[in-house]
Amino acid sequence: MTAQIIDGKALSQRLRVGFRERVERLKARGVSPGLAVVLVGDNPASRVYVGNKIKACEECGVHSLHIGLAADVSEAEVLATIERLNRDAGIHGILVQLPLPAHIPIARVLEAISVHKDVDGFHLYNVGALVTGTSIFPPCTPYGVQLLLDTTGIDVAGKNAVVVGASNIVGKPMGLMLLQREATVTICHAKTRDLAQHTILADILIVAAGKPGLIVPQMVKEGAIVIDVGINRLPDGRIVGDVCFDAVKEKASWITPVPGGVGPMTVTMLIENTLRSAERAFKAADEDEFQDWEAPVVKSPD
Ligand code: NAP
Repeated sequence: MTAQIIDGKALSQRLRVGFRERVERLKARGVSPGLAVVLVGDNPASRVYVGNKIKACEECGVHSLHIGLAADVSEAEVLATIERLNRDAGIHGILVQLPLPAHIPIARVLEAISVHKDVDGFHLYNVGALVTGTSIFPPCTPYGVQLLLDTTGIDVAGKNAVVVGASNIVGKPMGLMLLQREATVTICHAKTRDLAQHTILADILIVAAGKPGLIVPQMVKEGAIVIDVGINRLPDGRIVGDVCFDAVKEKASWITPVPGGVGPMTVTMLIENTLRSAERAFKAADEDEFQDWEAPVVKSPD
């Protein structure tokens, strides 16, 4: 069997056409959707990611505000910046590019973002909402994977879904989303014993470990759907995923390439969440439900 390719780039482009229409509808009602991207320091990879996000905003007609802060900025200044953005009615989404310098506590920064503008979906409130299946802003990468799975037309319910990788931003939320869709979910991580014993049972295999060559055909069930989230730069400069693509595609029924699979979807879902936020804000203002956009404050334990 040779797998059909799940083309994330093409799906992203289709979605972005619809986004431009939604932006026009919002603008016609006096709302210009806005995303603020906060970058602390000058990590070169982060600069590239931020650049891609700003470019996607431009492509879709979303206003973007790039805020660059010095690597030695104080925690108080980062929190004050977020507070300003929380109060800015022209900003519907706030994203703080991770990682942050070691002296800035990530949890406190993420929890300072208004839950109504938490378009990355990393605030504890939105993480909790994901557990109960009521998330407003699903985290972008697993959200994109969900849409890629939808393109196969295969119903996730009742399938064995195995997620390799248990990070807070990809693996864990991915597992929760699949569970919400009634898959039987296994989440594997670096301490999982005999990884292949789990992956071989997967009807749906999602790999997000950041280890090139981790998944070889012997670990994949015939006819499985394989989604490769990994992005790894090899010493020769090539970008590859975690799955041995050429060999595994001969066994899978569907597979995502790297690049061109999950990557473009992550940025696209960020725009989706930003538009959703702007639409919610418009609806709320219209129905006079909310007088202001102050977030309910959810404090993290000290
Ligand atoms: P991360 O925070 O480093 O987490 C990696 C996870 O994989 C951890 O849970 C780790 O287990 C697990 N793991 C590592 N080696 C393993 C092994 N040999 N077997 C099983 N599990 C293993 O990384 P991340 O942020 O989730 O990202 C994962 C990959 O996805 C990276 O390549 C990243 O670049 C890529 N990524 C891509 C996108 C996209 O848009 N396509 C978005 C985000 C991330 P422990 O928890 O036990 O350490």
